[in-house]
Amino acid sequence: MRLCSVELQNFRNYESLDLSFPGGTHILYGANAQGKTNLLEAIYLCTCARSHRTARDEELVRQGAGSYLARVGFITDRGIPETLSIEYQRAAKGGTPRRIIRYNDLEVARLADMMGLFHAILFAPEDLQIVKDGPSERRRFLDILISRLDRSYFRHLQDFLKILAQRNRLLKSIRAGGRSDRLPELDIWDESLAESASFILVKRQEMIGRLAGYAALALTHLTSSRELLSLHYKSFPGLEEGLDQKTAESRYLDRLIRSREDDLARGSTSQGPHRDDIQISLNGADARLYASQGQQRSAVLSLKIAELMILTEVTGEKPILLLDDVMSELDASRREKLMEVIRDHQVFMTCTDPDQLGETSSLAADSACPAVWEGPVRYYRVQEGQIQAGSRNMV
Ligand code: ATP
Ligand code: MG
Repeated sequence: MRLCSVELQNFRNYESLDLSFPGGTHILYGANAQGKTNLLEAIYLCTCARSHRTARDEELVRQGAGSYLARVGFITDRGIPETLSIEYQRAAKGGTPRRIIRYNDLEVARLADMMGLFHAILFAPEDLQIVKDGPSERRRFLDILISRLDRSYFRHLQDFLKILAQRNRLLKSIRAGGRSDRLPELDIWDESLAESASFILVKRQEMIGRLAGYAALALTHLTSSRELLSLHYKSFPGLEEGLDQKTAESRYLDRLIRSREDDLARGSTSQGPHRDDIQISLNGADARLYASQGQQRSAVLSLKIAELMILTEVTGEKPILLLDDVMSELDASRREKLMEVIRDHQVFMTCTDPDQLGETSSLAADSACPAVWEGPVRYYRVQEGQIQAGSRNMV
């Protein structure tokens, strides 16, 4: 896949932007706070309608404006030109905000249907949260990846969350009013929750299996070491790996019944896909607790490379790669290994100083941009929400 154009209106610090790109490597440089990440954020937004920095569309609207538009034009590896756009309108007084997604200028009615149309993978400093933060970051990483490959997964996830909210409401109302007469209703919700959850649980376990294989390979490659990365899907007791959907459903139903007293006391559902986690281990120890900052970075990079491998394998399309400030954080050897992985893709990368990237035509030891790249390297200067294409000597 190749990104051909980006159009922005009132997105973050961009009032208006209309840029076209050929293939190859694109280096966006400029001082801090000029709009480099904002551009990558807008491109990434078009893959799954969610920014990697915020869940709030409001933040993406340029201060003082009433709406934003982000639109990408791209060409698939089969040679088909396509467009995807996301428009968000702030709520008018007393009204509700509106988000309009268009694929080839036709409105996409359901969010699930825009998943997997445009493939870009973002490598960003925020990725470290996947290892460092709580389970919700890891679940989100997994959910977005599966949704991009399987739209029905996203729909199941939305259904699950709706049923969960209804079950929780019922738990609260039984607790508040001592309404034991409503317990039979809970039986019904338990059954639908278990049915909906089983699809999610099985898909997540399958994806963890795939990710684990690729990520372990990627880490070995990156570090040229014997560091062993392993992933494990952590769920409620009884949910072993490799279960079929029917068995997962009955095990979860069983869990819901066993934890009913507990759930009634707290007024919410204590176990299930919304509470699960991915255990990331390095040489057998929990990476979140025991790995060094550098090891955590490498683990995350391996997960992202695994994501890239899986997306390419399943879709047959080479995703566009967005590298936000990534090179500066890696040592020369890891940078070079990463280059080998991404060399055949169209790449957009940001940095503050292109001189630190070294000569693209030579393989200098400290070069962040060595000659492994085929095709042209283009430079863009980013300044106060404006982008100027040209040479790196414009600084
Ligand atoms: P760095 O090198 O520090 O990473 P950057 O070029 O990547 O910098 P960005 O994160 O792309 O910087 O842009 C940050 C700028 O965008 C800040 O000046 C910030 O105030 C501005 N900005 C962010 N959101 C909005 C918004 N909704 N409206 C207007 N400006 C915004
Ligand atoms: Mg930035």
